Amino acid sequence: MFKKILIANRGEIALRVQRACRELGIQTVVVYSEADREAKYVRLADEAVCIGPAPSAQSYLHMPAIISAAEVTDAEAIHPGYGFLSENADFAERVEKSGFAFIGPRPDSIRLMGDKVSAKQAMIRSGVPCVPGSEGALPEDPREITRIARSIGYPVIIKAAGGGGGRGMRVVHTEAALINAVTMTRSEAAAAFGNPAVYMEKFLLQPRHIEIQVLADTHGNAVWLGERDCSMQRRHQKVLEEAPAPGIPRRLIERIGARCADACKKIGYRGAGTFEFLYENGEFYFIEMNTRVQVEHPVTELITGVDIVVEQIRIAAGEKLSVRQRGVTFNGHAIECRINAEDPYKFTPSPGRISVWHTPGGPGVRVDSHAYANYFVPPNYDSMIGKIIVHGATREQAIARMRIALSEMVVDGILTNIPLHRELMVDARFIEGGTSIHYLEEYLAARHPA
Ligand code: ADP
Repeated sequence: MFKKILIANRGEIALRVQRACRELGIQTVVVYSEADREAKYVRLADEAVCIGPAPSAQSYLHMPAIISAAEVTDAEAIHPGYGFLSENADFAERVEKSGFAFIGPRPDSIRLMGDKVSAKQAMIRSGVPCVPGSEGALPEDPREITRIARSIGYPVIIKAAGGGGGRGMRVVHTEAALINAVTMTRSEAAAAFGNPAVYMEKFLLQPRHIEIQVLADTHGNAVWLGERDCSMQRRHQKVLEEAPAPGIPRRLIERIGARCADACKKIGYRGAGTFEFLYENGEFYFIEMNTRVQVEHPVTELITGVDIVVEQIRIAAGEKLSVRQRGVTFNGHAIECRINAEDPYKFTPSPGRISVWHTPGGPGVRVDSHAYANYFVPPNYDSMIGKIIVHGATREQAIARMRIALSEMVVDGILTNIPLHRELMVDARFIEGGTSIHYLEEYLAARHPA
């Protein structure tokens, strides 16, 4: 096992990874920008290295600074967290070439999954069902593009191969609008992602976002740890997540889960990963794979008892998975609410100093946050300041516990989205379960007519 790990991230995930390291008896090095100098988790680490000024490009995205921090502190491995450099194949490659272990997949797996066209092709080869669409990138010939759209059937969605973060997508309802939409998405993709390749998919009308968590070691073992329902989204950003997904027959989940674990073996995947699917009318359609730990990993941890971050570290150290598929059992229900420093209804960021910070507790309540009273939320980064995760024997109990947790939570000095979460926990459609990816936006539009 490693003696020392460098954590190349900030905020709650930097603290989460630190906790896993401590449990394993591993020393931690935290890198931080000047904006995060005062953060408590920076002081909790065994060592801390300032890697630059507040802007991410000059700190958390600055590869040479991170690698030299690992060199001067004698760290053996680097954990990238999520966001920042976590899905950057060049970074993973530089980390490994510099003699450190990268706590994540092999660089070529990151590259394969980072291009959505090659990712889909790999999934089709591995027997994972995908959204019906073009085979690979769209050709130049407009007649050929029109033919492909006709065979898929309208509406279709044009997506950038290099896209991410909900950008680089355009829905087309009629043939008249098709070629123009392809041309526009191509030029946007070239400008935004440096890759003009686009592909076409059938646009699903009322899907749910269901994802499968996997773990794979370097000894040929791969397991799936159940699913998460992340359909509650605003602008393709997840707001709350739960596991298991309400109302989906277990045999369907088991079938798709087994396919994902199998695909990991076929592509020689290493580490933790997530297969994201759209789910509609009893069918799963792969849309993309995330080759890193995800924000919503705790809901899976609470229902399976598997520590995903500990497993990531063990896998990177060359150890075998500590669980076999037969040993993975699902217990109760978990829900996560992401706490963001933002206006709960206008969604404008609300950075600044937190004056009062009271976190909830009690049975089945977990709070993952780096914030505290008098903590200053810097304006430079993502607005998420923590997560409340609850576990209950049933979904009803989990919802009840989340309501209590949210009622106990007090944050003053900045605005947060806690009021929105309180509303959602008493919303009849949420309580019923199984809402589509459009539900939250419809809810918000109905609540505040524009
Ligand atoms: P990104 O990498 O930018 O997050 P994804 O491919 O994961 O892109 O898609 C993001 C979101 O866009 C999905 O969660 C879904 O809401 C919507 N979406 C993508 N593809 C389709 C599709 N074929 N039909 C309907 N909605 C889609």
